[in-house]
Order: sequence, then structure tokens, then C-alpha cells
Amino acid sequence: MSNQAFPPALDALVEQFARLPGVGRKSAQRMAFFVLGLPDQQVETFAQALLTAKREIHRCPVCQNFSEGDGPCALCRSSRRDGSTVCVVAEARDVAALERGQEYRGLYHVLHGVISPMNHVGPDDLAVKELLARVGQGQIREVIMATNPDTEGEATAMYLSRLLKPFGVTVTRLAYGVPVGGHLEFADDATLARALEGRREM
Ligand SMILES: [Zn+2]
Repeated sequence: MSNQAFPPALDALVEQFARLPGVGRKSAQRMAFFVLGLPDQQVETFAQALLTAKREIHRCPVCQNFSEGDGPCALCRSSRRDGSTVCVVAEARDVAALERGQEYRGLYHVLHGVISPMNHVGPDDLAVKELLARVGQGQIREVIMATNPDTEGEATAMYLSRLLKPFGVTVTRLAYGVPVGGHLEFADDATLARALEGRREM
């Protein structure tokens, strides 16, 4: 949807902003005008940050969380973490939420989404086979399902728990705590700590 009133380069910029999640046409235009008003140097820095992040940030080969450089991330490398417990979360931002609480001492596994037939997201689109390979190595004793307590989060947890049972690991689910239909990243630290503490076997 191009706008005759805009020169093509401006149209193209609006187009890119409009691709961002939660950004509508109007907001995209506001952002584009904002960028045009910035000093060259700041626009340069902004563009460079996009390219650098995309180039430098990879998925940790162990937990699949975003990590800079090659090899396992700092959390997976840390000798102070309990490698026998893995907490499965939907998104990288959920790791940040749980780490804020400083309660959890185990490792993580980031799925990068949840199973959602409505949005055409199946297990193959998520870091599921990486989780199975990890658990298959035998050091993990407990897998904590920490997907959100909404329909898709619950279904994903159930699905994974069924896949994991044959490995002989204990699969637990966070005790909520976290309001039903709520999101991990918005839970306060005390609620998250209680949810972890009260986790129950699936
Ligand atoms: Zn990692």
C-alpha cells in the first residue's frame, strides 16, 4: 500500500517499520519521520546496530538462547549452574525474567515459540529436537516446563512432557502463581520464585 504523497525512499522506510510486530501503518509513518529528523550519525549508529546484532548473535548450540559469538552461551558454560535441571521456556525474554529472580540455579532451553496450529507453528518450527537430543545425553534429571499458562503454553508443555517421559527424566510444571492466561515476563519476582518452588510433576 504505497502513498502517492511520499517519495519512494520514504515509502520504503515506512514499509520496513510496518513489518515490526505490533507496529501499524500510522506508527510506522511516525517512526519514519522521526528517523528523517535524526542527525546522520545517529541513523548510522541505528542501522549499524541492526546489522551487528544480526551478524554477531547466534543461538547457543546447547540451550538455543541468543548468544554472542560461537560456542555455548555464558550461562551454559558457567560452573555455578546445576546442569541436571533444565527449565524449558518459550522465548528468550522468559530467561531474562527468571534470571531476574536469582532463585533458579539450573540451565534453560529456549523453544523460540509455542505450538500453535492457528499460526501454523508446529514442533518442527521450535527447538524441540535440540531439547530431545540434550535430554538424550543423560545428565539431565529434571525438566521444568515454564511455558506460559495459556492454552498454547499448556498444550506445548503437555506435548513435550509426553515426548520426554520415555527418557526417564522427571518433568515438572510451574505452580501458578503466575495468573492463568498470564505471561511469565510480566510476573513479579516473588510470584516467579513461588511458581518455581511449588512446581509439580506432570
Ligand atoms: Zn546456552
